[in-house]
Amino acid sequence: MRSKIKRCRTCGLYTLKDICPICGASTSQTKPARFSPEDRYGRYRRALRQEAE
Ligand SMILES: [Zn+2]
Repeated sequence: MRSKIKRCRTCGLYTLKDICPICGASTSQTKPARFSPEDRYGRYRRALRQEAE
């Protein structure tokens, strides 16, 4: 199941669909190795990391 979880690149929403139900953008698959769907704060950490670079 967790390999099917995708994430919207635009708003960061997690979904199982190819298209984000919120903003309609295409989603991309998460990477299970470094990214657990249980980790709700992962996206915030990643966002902070991107801003720091
Ligand atoms: Zn979205």
